[in-house]
Amino acid sequence: MEKIRTRYAPSPTGRMHVGNLRSALYEFLVAKHAGGTFMLRIEDTDQERYVEGAVDIIYRTMKETGLVHDEGPDKDGGYGPYVQSERMKTGIYMKYAKELIEKGEAYYCFCDKERLDSLKTTVDEDGKSITIYDKHCLSLSKEEIEANLAAGKPFVIRQNIPNEGTTTFHDELYGDITVDNSELDDMILIKSDGYPTYNFANVVDDHTMNITHVVRGNEYLSSSPKYVRLYDAFGWKVPVYIHLPLITDENHKKLSKRSGHASFEDLVEQGFLTEAIVNYVALLGWSPEDNNEIFSLSELIEKFDYHRINKSPSVFDIVKLRWMNGEYLKKMDDDKFYEMAKPYLDKSLPADYDDAKKRKIAGMVKTRIEVFPDIDAQVDFLRELPDYDIEMYSHKKMKTDAASSLAVLKDVLPILESTDDYTNDALYQTLLKYVEEKGYKNGYVMWPIRTALSGKQMTPAGATEILELLGKDESLKRIKKGIEKLSL
Ligand code: GLU
Repeated sequence: MEKIRTRYAPSPTGRMHVGNLRSALYEFLVAKHAGGTFMLRIEDTDQERYVEGAVDIIYRTMKETGLVHDEGPDKDGGYGPYVQSERMKTGIYMKYAKELIEKGEAYYCFCDKERLDSLKTTVDEDGKSITIYDKHCLSLSKEEIEANLAAGKPFVIRQNIPNEGTTTFHDELYGDITVDNSELDDMILIKSDGYPTYNFANVVDDHTMNITHVVRGNEYLSSSPKYVRLYDAFGWKVPVYIHLPLITDENHKKLSKRSGHASFEDLVEQGFLTEAIVNYVALLGWSPEDNNEIFSLSELIEKFDYHRINKSPSVFDIVKLRWMNGEYLKKMDDDKFYEMAKPYLDKSLPADYDDAKKRKIAGMVKTRIEVFPDIDAQVDFLRELPDYDIEMYSHKKMKTDAASSLAVLKDVLPILESTDDYTNDALYQTLLKYVEEKGYKNGYVMWPIRTALSGKQMTPAGATEILELLGKDESLKRIKKGIEKLSL
């Protein structure tokens, strides 16, 4: 059996979009699942879209996500160069374009902008205007072409697609697709600046680099018949095509920059873990046989079968990603969690909290957050008592209300004033004594104390833990404030 070779072929145009990350991940998984080779090729022939620094982003993202390539610009595997602008310098694209001209499958076109602008345009289903070139230059004689070339007249090279007949190609997910040739434009293969178009370079490169499986977004589906015609014209074997479903936002619109979480870097900036992002992206269009959803990269390699990719659009659900990230946080080793949470704790907690205290708090919030930035909402009350409504003292289950809370706080204030051991255990024993003496239920006492200390319905810690964290002075201040509020 032939060895599987896949490629991730990004254009360096900015941050790595979630859709690109998914293509890269699936290309990686298709190769690794079958023990094949995963290659990186930089497609930088569109000079107008080139963004400085974007190549570094690609390397960085692939390294961080663990999508390690076996071959690429920095790892020669014998199929280089791996950057299209460098491949161009070897003359490879022009050589193959000329071969097509010889075969009558391509031709020189000298039409200027004015003429091209005057061609009839139609609008497709998506409202995109399309111009089908009228083959004007196909009828130029050999002499005319040579004279134009000798005079240095700017030219492009176009693919020659007959107006009659149909072209069929096969996609692993979409099956056989047949289109009328009359719908296919004589697309440009070599531009007037001498660079190949993506449409031509991807075919030449995928063939000459021995690529067996091409995984990419379905925006390329409509161009695929033209690629297949090129493969056929050369007599080359067409790779296996796997076009992936669209990724939409929550409103079922194509996921775009506007959603605010369209790229890997956006997500990292929002506090998502790399492993969770990769895991989530893997499920955007693919599902395993069982219902499991949490997978490490090596588990994905083991399970990934591209036949199980789904054709229907996948919704990028940030709520689900948050849930998944939370699962990863829960499983994280405590030391690692603390190390990663520390910058957020430092920002949110009072400046005089020491490391031991911060560690304790990290342990309290670990199972309660979904992303690190959630930490602030968990611990902000430690920094400053929020302004709260005394309604909060009323709790049905604890059988508390404003009056009962006032009575309890008045009782416990002197007890807490006379205690110097502000550790959780000691405080708990002290308060328990009071609870028992009075014959109350725990919650009847702890609820008002916790409310006075935090001003919040929910806290990651109980009343006595908060007393310990705040310390005596601050705790007493807050209890007094509670009494004051309840006495008004
Ligand atoms: N350079 C193309 C892109 O970044 C690659 C498409 C493909 O994988 O063939 O979208």
